[in-house]
Order: sequence, then structure tokens, then C-alpha cells
Amino acid sequence: MAEKYHLVHISTGEVIRNQIKQGTELGKKAAGQMEGGGLVSDELVLEIIADCLVRNKDARGTIFDGFPRTVAQAEAFDKMLAEMNESVSVTLSLEPKDQTLIDRLLNRGKIEGRADDMSEEIIRNRIKVYKEQTAPVKDFYRKQNKVVEIDGEKGIENTFQQISSVLDRMISQ
Ligand code: AMP
Repeated sequence: MAEKYHLVHISTGEVIRNQIKQGTELGKKAAGQMEGGGLVSDELVLEIIADCLVRNKDARGTIFDGFPRTVAQAEAFDKMLAEMNESVSVTLSLEPKDQTLIDRLLNRGKIEGRADDMSEEIIRNRIKVYKEQTAPVKDFYRKQNKVVEIDGEKGIENTFQQISSVLDRMISQ
């Protein structure tokens, strides 16, 4: 998506994994929080986002992948963007069934070796954390009329097409 629409792609999970690998202070703090599939603190994640916003302030647009994951993050993010005269354009909610997620993540675990993908117990906890802490973010953006649900049961190509048609529609408006 980033390539097709010339957007910057920021995955908070990827940033955190890199910081853990590099053994930075932020990485050390995040490692324990991330281990069992729980969320890293809002404070650390917002530090990452503030840094990314400064570094990419000239971007045409940005895909935030895996962020915001709590309502507190969404509220703080809206404030940060408002200070830059920016705002969220759309929130894409990719929605596969739980079992599809479990199968996909276990498969990715075999290919990429991510620790939190290799245990079904951790994956189930991530889904539970999503339902408890992240699903309310959808309601937060729904109040702003900014949520589009994407059928997550289809393959990569179909998902790509669904998202493309949302973005194409927005660009032509
Ligand atoms: P992901 O790569 O998006 O699947 O994220 C992997 C893990 O990184 C999550 O299970 C969390 O522990 C942590 N993480 C990533 N993004 C966030 C976020 N926005 N808020 C809190 N924790 C996060």
C-alpha cells in the first residue's frame, strides 16, 4: 500500500522489535511488556510516534500500522496531529475470524520466527487484549465517521484490492 500510494509506513511493533534487538533503553523497557502478548505502555508508544511524526513531517501521508491500540493513544494522537494541523483520514479495520488469525500467525511464526507468533497461548492472549483494549479504538473513530471495515477472511490480493478501493475513493473526493 505504501509503495502504491507513496506513503510512509510506520509499524509500532516493528519499531519496538528493532529497539529490542538494538538493546536501547526503550527496547529494554518494552521487552517485558511485549513478551506475553500484552501491550507496551502508552507512554513508550507515544514517544515512538512523536519521534516518527517529527522525522516524517514532509510525508505525503502515513500508514500507521498497529497504532493506536488504546483509546488513550488515539486521544493523544489526535492532539499531536491537531498541533501540526493534520488529522486522521481513515481507520481501516481488518477483520478476520479468530481462528483465521491463529492459523495465519502460527504460520508466520514458522516462517519469520517471531516469538509472539510461535505460541498459540500468546496469540490467544493478543486476541483477548485486542478485544478488551483495541476494539474500543474503533468506536472512538466511528464517532468521527472514519472507520472502514475490511473483510479479513480473503487472501492478500483481495485485501489489497479492498483497501485500494477505499483509498482511491478518498483520493478522488
Ligand atoms: P505488531 O507487530 O503490531 O503485531 O505488535 C507486536 C507487539 O508490539 C504487540 O503485541 C504489543 O506488545 C507491541 N505493540 C505494537 N504496537 C503497539 C501499540 N500501538 N501499543 C502498545 N503496544 C504495541
